[in-house]
Amino acid sequence: MCGCNADDPGEVPGSPPGGTTGGTGLCCACPASDTISQNGNGTYFTTTDYPMPSIVNKCEIDIVRTATDGTVTLTKSFDLSTANLGTALTDTAAKATATSAIASAMSNWTSGASAYKVKIEQPGCDPQELTMVFRSSIVASGGDVAVTVDGSTPPPRPTFVSGGVRMTIFLNGSGSVSWTMTHEVGHTFGLPDEYAEILGVPIVPPPTTPGAPTITPPSVSPTTTYIGAPPQANVTFPLTPRRVSPRRPTKYLFDNPSVMGRDGNTTYPMNLFFWVAIEVKKILAAEGAPSTVTIV
Ligand SMILES: [Zn+2]
Repeated sequence: MCGCNADDPGEVPGSPPGGTTGGTGLCCACPASDTISQNGNGTYFTTTDYPMPSIVNKCEIDIVRTATDGTVTLTKSFDLSTANLGTALTDTAAKATATSAIASAMSNWTSGASAYKVKIEQPGCDPQELTMVFRSSIVASGGDVAVTVDGSTPPPRPTFVSGGVRMTIFLNGSGSVSWTMTHEVGHTFGLPDEYAEILGVPIVPPPTTPGAPTITPPSVSPTTTYIGAPPQANVTFPLTPRRVSPRRPTKYLFDNPSVMGRDGNTTYPMNLFFWVAIEVKKILAAEGAPSTVTIV
Protein backbone atom coordinates (compact mmCIF):
# COMPACT_ATOMS: atom_id res chain seq x y z
CA MET A 1 0.00 0.00 0.00
CA CYS A 2 0.97 3.57 -0.32
CA GLY A 3 2.45 5.57 2.50
CA CYS A 4 0.05 8.33 3.40
CA ASN A 5 1.70 10.05 6.33
CA ALA A 6 3.09 13.46 5.48
CA ASP A 7 5.37 13.31 8.51
CA ASP A 8 7.38 10.39 7.18
CA PRO A 9 10.37 11.39 5.07
CA GLY A 10 9.63 10.61 1.45
CA GLU A 11 6.02 10.01 2.19
CA VAL A 12 3.17 12.09 1.11
CA PRO A 13 -0.12 13.57 2.29
CA GLY A 14 -3.53 12.21 1.51
CA SER A 15 -5.55 9.07 1.99
CA PRO A 16 -5.41 5.63 0.41
CA PRO A 17 -7.52 5.16 -2.72
CA GLY A 18 -11.08 4.12 -2.20
CA GLY A 19 -13.01 5.08 -5.27
CA THR A 20 -14.94 8.30 -4.81
CA THR A 21 -13.25 9.86 -1.83
CA GLY A 22 -15.70 12.64 -1.14
CA GLY A 23 -12.96 15.23 -1.28
CA THR A 24 -10.26 13.31 0.54
CA GLY A 25 -7.33 13.41 -1.84
CA LEU A 26 -5.10 10.56 -2.83
CA CYS A 27 -1.65 10.39 -1.32
CA CYS A 28 1.14 11.26 -3.74
CA ALA A 29 2.11 7.67 -4.38
CA CYS A 30 -1.35 6.16 -4.25
CA PRO A 31 -2.59 4.28 -7.30
CA ALA A 32 -5.80 5.13 -9.09
CA SER A 33 -7.71 3.57 -11.94
CA ASP A 34 -10.91 3.84 -13.89
CA THR A 35 -12.60 2.72 -17.07
CA ILE A 36 -13.43 5.40 -19.60
CA SER A 37 -15.80 5.82 -22.53
CA GLN A 38 -15.01 9.13 -24.18
CA ASN A 39 -15.75 10.53 -27.63
CA GLY A 40 -12.40 11.86 -28.81
CA ASN A 41 -13.98 14.19 -31.37
CA GLY A 42 -14.23 17.55 -29.63
CA THR A 43 -12.47 16.32 -26.49
CA TYR A 44 -9.11 15.08 -27.78
CA PHE A 45 -9.15 16.76 -31.19
CA THR A 46 -10.99 19.00 -33.62
CA THR A 47 -10.68 19.32 -37.40
CA THR A 48 -11.39 22.06 -39.92
CA ASP A 49 -12.23 21.62 -43.61
CA TYR A 50 -12.57 17.87 -43.27
CA PRO A 51 -15.17 16.07 -41.18
CA MET A 52 -14.44 13.34 -38.65
CA PRO A 53 -17.20 11.25 -37.06
CA SER A 54 -17.55 10.55 -33.36
CA ILE A 55 -14.73 8.23 -32.24
CA VAL A 56 -15.23 6.68 -28.83
CA ASN A 57 -12.27 5.60 -26.71
CA LYS A 58 -13.13 2.81 -24.29
CA CYS A 59 -10.35 1.45 -22.10
CA GLU A 60 -9.12 0.89 -18.58
CA ILE A 61 -6.53 3.25 -17.17
CA ASP A 62 -4.31 2.18 -14.28
CA ILE A 63 -2.07 4.77 -12.64
CA VAL A 64 0.68 3.35 -10.43
CA ARG A 65 3.01 5.86 -8.77
CA THR A 66 6.13 6.14 -6.71
CA ALA A 67 7.27 9.47 -5.24
CA THR A 68 8.71 10.61 -8.58
CA ASP A 69 7.74 8.16 -11.34
CA GLY A 70 5.49 5.22 -12.18
CA THR A 71 3.39 3.90 -15.05
CA VAL A 72 0.12 4.68 -16.72
CA THR A 73 -1.19 1.45 -18.24
CA LEU A 74 -3.85 1.79 -20.92
CA THR A 75 -5.64 -1.55 -21.42
CA LYS A 76 -8.17 -2.05 -24.17
CA SER A 77 -10.20 -5.26 -24.46
CA PHE A 78 -11.20 -6.80 -27.78
CA ASP A 79 -13.78 -9.48 -28.54
CA LEU A 80 -13.34 -11.38 -31.79
CA SER A 81 -15.76 -12.92 -34.24
CA THR A 82 -15.11 -14.19 -37.77
CA ALA A 83 -16.76 -13.88 -41.17
CA ASN A 84 -16.21 -15.11 -44.72
CA LEU A 85 -13.30 -17.38 -43.81
CA GLY A 86 -14.07 -19.89 -46.55
CA THR A 87 -12.31 -23.24 -46.30
CA ALA A 88 -8.68 -22.10 -46.26
CA LEU A 89 -8.67 -20.77 -42.72
CA THR A 90 -10.01 -22.03 -39.41
CA ASP A 91 -11.80 -19.83 -36.93
CA THR A 92 -8.98 -20.41 -34.46
CA ALA A 93 -6.26 -19.47 -36.93
CA ALA A 94 -8.06 -16.31 -38.02
CA LYS A 95 -8.51 -15.18 -34.42
CA ALA A 96 -4.87 -15.98 -33.64
CA THR A 97 -3.74 -13.77 -36.53
CA ALA A 98 -5.94 -10.94 -35.31
CA THR A 99 -4.81 -11.35 -31.69
CA SER A 100 -1.18 -11.17 -32.72
CA ALA A 101 -1.74 -8.11 -34.92
CA ILE A 102 -3.56 -6.29 -32.11
CA ALA A 103 -0.82 -7.11 -29.58
CA SER A 104 1.86 -5.89 -32.01
CA ALA A 105 -0.04 -2.67 -32.55
CA MET A 106 -0.19 -2.05 -28.79
CA SER A 107 3.52 -2.74 -28.58
CA ASN A 108 4.10 -0.18 -31.34
CA TRP A 109 2.12 2.42 -29.37
CA THR A 110 4.15 1.68 -26.23
CA SER A 111 7.33 2.16 -28.25
CA GLY A 112 5.99 5.38 -29.77
CA ALA A 113 5.12 6.66 -26.29
CA SER A 114 8.53 5.81 -24.85
CA ALA A 115 9.91 9.20 -25.93
CA TYR A 116 7.47 10.92 -23.58
CA LYS A 117 6.22 10.89 -20.00
CA VAL A 118 2.96 11.73 -18.28
CA LYS A 119 3.91 14.47 -15.84
CA ILE A 120 1.68 14.72 -12.75
CA GLU A 121 1.94 17.79 -10.54
CA GLN A 122 -0.27 17.11 -7.55
CA PRO A 123 -0.34 19.85 -4.90
CA GLY A 124 1.84 18.90 -1.96
CA CYS A 125 3.72 16.24 -3.91
CA ASP A 126 6.93 16.08 -5.90
CA PRO A 127 6.38 16.12 -9.66
CA GLN A 128 6.04 12.61 -11.06
CA GLU A 129 6.92 11.45 -14.56
CA LEU A 130 5.15 8.25 -15.54
CA THR A 131 5.82 5.88 -18.44
CA MET A 132 2.92 4.97 -20.73
CA VAL A 133 2.21 1.29 -21.44
CA PHE A 134 -0.41 0.16 -23.96
CA ARG A 135 -1.91 -3.30 -23.54
CA SER A 136 -4.65 -5.39 -25.13
CA SER A 137 -6.72 -8.20 -23.73
CA ILE A 138 -8.95 -10.61 -25.64
CA VAL A 139 -12.33 -11.28 -24.07
CA ALA A 140 -15.16 -13.61 -25.08
CA SER A 141 -17.74 -10.83 -25.36
CA GLY A 142 -18.42 -7.23 -24.41
CA GLY A 143 -14.95 -5.94 -25.30
CA ASP A 144 -14.10 -2.26 -25.59
CA VAL A 145 -13.77 -3.01 -29.30
CA ALA A 146 -15.88 -5.60 -31.16
CA VAL A 147 -13.69 -7.07 -33.90
CA THR A 148 -14.85 -8.94 -36.99
CA VAL A 149 -12.03 -10.92 -38.58
CA ASP A 150 -13.01 -11.16 -42.25
CA GLY A 151 -11.42 -13.56 -44.74
CA SER A 152 -12.99 -12.09 -47.89
CA THR A 153 -10.90 -12.42 -51.06
CA PRO A 154 -10.53 -9.80 -52.31
CA PRO A 155 -11.48 -7.60 -49.35
CA PRO A 156 -14.03 -4.91 -50.24
CA ARG A 157 -11.91 -2.23 -48.52
CA PRO A 158 -8.95 -1.91 -46.13
CA THR A 159 -9.18 -2.86 -42.46
CA PHE A 160 -11.13 -0.16 -40.65
CA VAL A 161 -12.52 1.09 -37.34
CA SER A 162 -16.02 2.51 -37.02
CA GLY A 163 -16.99 4.81 -34.17
CA GLY A 164 -13.87 3.79 -32.25
CA VAL A 165 -15.52 0.64 -30.91
CA ARG A 166 -16.01 -1.64 -33.92
CA MET A 167 -13.17 -2.96 -36.05
CA THR A 168 -13.20 -5.08 -39.19
CA ILE A 169 -9.89 -6.74 -39.97
CA PHE A 170 -9.59 -7.94 -43.57
CA LEU A 171 -7.01 -10.70 -43.45
CA ASN A 172 -6.36 -10.46 -47.21
CA GLY A 173 -6.03 -6.69 -47.28
CA SER A 174 -3.31 -5.06 -49.31
CA GLY A 175 -0.40 -3.22 -47.76
CA SER A 176 1.13 -3.70 -44.35
CA VAL A 177 -1.16 -5.45 -41.86
CA SER A 178 1.11 -4.28 -39.05
CA TRP A 179 1.02 -0.59 -39.96
CA THR A 180 -2.70 -0.65 -40.72
CA MET A 181 -3.49 -2.23 -37.36
CA THR A 182 -1.35 0.31 -35.53
CA HIS A 183 -3.15 3.18 -37.28
CA GLU A 184 -6.57 1.63 -36.67
CA VAL A 185 -5.81 0.98 -33.00
CA GLY A 186 -5.00 4.70 -32.85
CA HIS A 187 -8.61 5.34 -33.84
CA THR A 188 -9.80 3.15 -30.97
CA PHE A 189 -8.00 5.64 -28.69
CA GLY A 190 -10.34 8.30 -30.05
CA LEU A 191 -7.71 9.78 -32.38
CA PRO A 192 -8.51 11.31 -35.79
CA ASP A 193 -7.26 10.67 -39.28
CA GLU A 194 -4.57 13.16 -40.18
CA TYR A 195 -5.42 12.83 -43.83
CA ALA A 196 -8.31 13.90 -46.01
CA GLU A 197 -9.35 13.13 -49.55
CA ILE A 198 -10.96 16.22 -51.02
CA LEU A 199 -12.50 16.70 -54.47
CA GLY A 200 -9.84 18.00 -56.85
CA VAL A 201 -10.00 20.67 -59.54
CA PRO A 202 -10.08 19.12 -63.03
CA ILE A 203 -7.28 20.16 -65.40
CA VAL A 204 -8.82 21.71 -68.53
CA PRO A 205 -8.20 20.55 -71.15
CA PRO A 206 -7.34 17.10 -69.75
CA PRO A 207 -3.70 16.07 -70.28
CA THR A 208 -3.06 13.59 -73.09
CA THR A 209 0.03 12.00 -71.50
CA PRO A 210 -0.90 8.52 -70.20
CA GLY A 211 -0.89 8.42 -66.41
CA ALA A 212 -0.66 12.19 -66.00
CA PRO A 213 -2.83 13.63 -63.21
CA THR A 214 -6.10 15.07 -64.37
CA ILE A 215 -6.77 17.16 -61.26
CA THR A 216 -4.94 19.73 -59.13
CA PRO A 217 -5.39 20.35 -55.41
CA PRO A 218 -8.52 22.25 -54.41
CA SER A 219 -8.09 25.53 -52.57
CA VAL A 220 -8.84 24.37 -49.02
CA SER A 221 -6.90 24.45 -45.75
CA PRO A 222 -7.71 21.33 -43.74
CA THR A 223 -6.22 21.40 -40.24
CA THR A 224 -6.07 19.04 -37.30
CA THR A 225 -5.95 20.27 -33.70
CA TYR A 226 -4.94 18.11 -30.75
CA ILE A 227 -6.32 19.46 -27.47
CA GLY A 228 -3.90 19.71 -24.55
CA ALA A 229 -4.90 19.54 -20.89
CA PRO A 230 -4.09 23.09 -19.65
CA PRO A 231 -1.45 24.45 -19.40
CA GLN A 232 -0.43 22.17 -22.29
CA ALA A 233 -1.06 24.21 -25.42
CA ASN A 234 -3.18 22.78 -28.21
CA VAL A 235 -1.24 21.65 -31.28
CA THR A 236 -2.68 22.63 -34.67
CA PHE A 237 -1.14 21.74 -38.02
CA PRO A 238 -2.23 21.83 -41.65
CA LEU A 239 -2.78 18.75 -43.77
CA THR A 240 -0.74 19.50 -46.87
CA PRO A 241 -1.55 18.57 -50.48
CA ARG A 242 0.37 15.42 -51.37
CA ARG A 243 -0.93 13.64 -54.45
CA VAL A 244 -3.98 12.47 -56.33
CA SER A 245 -5.76 9.86 -54.22
CA PRO A 246 -4.59 6.42 -55.32
CA ARG A 247 -8.04 5.02 -54.65
CA ARG A 248 -10.24 7.91 -55.80
CA PRO A 249 -8.80 9.63 -58.90
CA THR A 250 -11.19 12.60 -58.67
CA LYS A 251 -9.92 13.40 -55.18
CA TYR A 252 -6.73 14.97 -53.92
CA LEU A 253 -4.98 13.54 -50.86
CA PHE A 254 -3.91 15.93 -48.07
CA ASP A 255 -1.97 14.49 -45.15
CA ASN A 256 0.43 14.88 -42.25
CA PRO A 257 3.50 12.65 -41.79
CA SER A 258 2.52 10.67 -38.70
CA VAL A 259 1.16 7.22 -37.88
CA MET A 260 -2.36 8.73 -37.92
CA GLY A 261 -1.74 10.43 -41.26
CA ARG A 262 0.51 9.02 -43.92
CA ASP A 263 0.39 5.39 -45.03
CA GLY A 264 3.43 3.54 -43.66
CA ASN A 265 4.66 6.45 -41.50
CA THR A 266 5.80 5.47 -38.00
CA THR A 267 6.21 8.90 -36.39
CA TYR A 268 4.46 9.38 -33.04
CA PRO A 269 4.33 13.11 -32.23
CA MET A 270 3.82 14.08 -28.60
CA ASN A 271 0.31 15.36 -29.31
CA LEU A 272 -0.89 11.79 -30.01
CA PHE A 273 -0.66 11.21 -26.24
CA PHE A 274 -2.37 14.39 -25.02
CA TRP A 275 -5.53 12.30 -24.46
CA VAL A 276 -3.72 10.25 -21.81
CA ALA A 277 -3.05 13.41 -19.81
CA ILE A 278 -6.67 14.53 -20.25
CA GLU A 279 -7.96 11.22 -18.86
CA VAL A 280 -5.39 10.90 -16.04
CA LYS A 281 -6.28 14.42 -14.93
CA LYS A 282 -9.98 13.47 -14.77
CA ILE A 283 -9.25 10.34 -12.73
CA LEU A 284 -7.09 12.18 -10.19
CA ALA A 285 -9.68 14.94 -9.87
CA ALA A 286 -12.42 12.33 -9.29
CA GLU A 287 -10.25 10.89 -6.50
CA GLY A 288 -10.12 14.27 -4.80
CA ALA A 289 -6.62 15.10 -5.98
CA PRO A 290 -6.95 17.82 -8.67
CA SER A 291 -3.58 17.93 -10.44
CA THR A 292 -1.84 19.43 -13.41
CA VAL A 293 -1.20 16.65 -15.93
CA THR A 294 0.80 17.19 -19.10
CA ILE A 295 2.78 15.17 -21.61
CA VAL A 296 6.49 15.99 -21.56
ZN1 LIG B 1 -7.70 6.12 -40.32
